[in-house]
Amino acid sequence: MKKHNFYAGPSILSQYTIKNTADAVLNFADTGLSILEVSHRSKEFQAVIDEANALVKELLEIPAGYEVLFLGGGASLQFAMVPFNFLKTKAAYIDTGVWANKAIKEAKLFGDVEVVASSKEANYTFIPKDYVIPADADYFHYTTNNTIYGTETRKDPDSPVPLVADMSSDIFSRPVDVSKYDCIYAGAQKNLAPAGVTIVIVKEDALGKVDRPIPTMLNYQTHTSKGSMFNTPPVLPIFSALQTLRYYKQLGGVKELEKMDIEKANVLYDAIDSSKMFVGTAAAEDRSIMNVCFVMKPEYAELEKAFVEFATSQGMVGIKGHRSVGGFRASLYNALPLDSVKALVACMKEFEAKH
Ligand SMILES: *Cc1c(COP(=O)(O)O)cnc(C)c1O
Repeated sequence: MKKHNFYAGPSILSQYTIKNTADAVLNFADTGLSILEVSHRSKEFQAVIDEANALVKELLEIPAGYEVLFLGGGASLQFAMVPFNFLKTKAAYIDTGVWANKAIKEAKLFGDVEVVASSKEANYTFIPKDYVIPADADYFHYTTNNTIYGTETRKDPDSPVPLVADMSSDIFSRPVDVSKYDCIYAGAQKNLAPAGVTIVIVKEDALGKVDRPIPTMLNYQTHTSKGSMFNTPPVLPIFSALQTLRYYKQLGGVKELEKMDIEKANVLYDAIDSSKMFVGTAAAEDRSIMNVCFVMKPEYAELEKAFVEFATSQGMVGIKGHRSVGGFRASLYNALPLDSVKALVACMKEFEAKH
């Protein structure tokens, strides 16, 4: 049976990425060797990381003065690297969910943290709008897409101080004005590659401004000065990332991806909004086009398990909601075809008709 992959992360990758990665596991760039066993210093791999770097810059129209890094440690390591490298006295954060909270917790190890707003009381069902970013903060950190709650900020905020963003779950789903940011980071396993690599975009001028000693591996300058090759980078995920980036370029870049993503999300949100049985959990104006969270209306609550079982029997994978929200979550990352969304909607309609 055809499987429809709605996992939140690691998550669906394009067939182009998977096929080319599988081929390279057997014979990488006609070396007669597997990508799993070649030196990261080989000219063939250098070509991979160089092209990946150039494509990230091209797709996101990154201006001069920024470096693109491919690092290990996941987005979670960036929660600490960001304040380690950028927090002099005070940083501003907005609390929009579990990931934002983890970033806040790490920043507090390095200085004052002003949490400008939080939607915790509402279980993060919306993104606060009425807040002031203090002009004396070193940076303002926010999470563009709250993977667990299905809320998203799709515009680069206006800010009196440089922005830092966790774009783990929506990078490459829209154009970004990178010039507003000192740093953007994204774990690859949501919209780009298998787990193991994190993309970091840093403004070179913003580095080297803190007085504290920084351990070598946690210092962005270590990596900017060596083109992400200070030590062995995650070779295989970077190879896969390159395949996805090529695929994104073939599709027409982030503007085209955004159109496709919005179309897919609309199909599912329309089905939820017109349903007698299902209801969305996120505030309409903050709904994510990447992660769609919904639950059973109270009068159908006892059918939740039955729906997951029915959907699973129809080939839907990974639609169970995160434990802190409950219900269902369908992740509609770039690689997910519109047909999968239509299949999920058909499944919802069939289940509704039966009950
Ligand atoms: C998944 C996720 C993370 C954590 O990523 P790791 O690579 O597992 O550390 C951080 N932030 C957001 C928004 C995420 O979706």
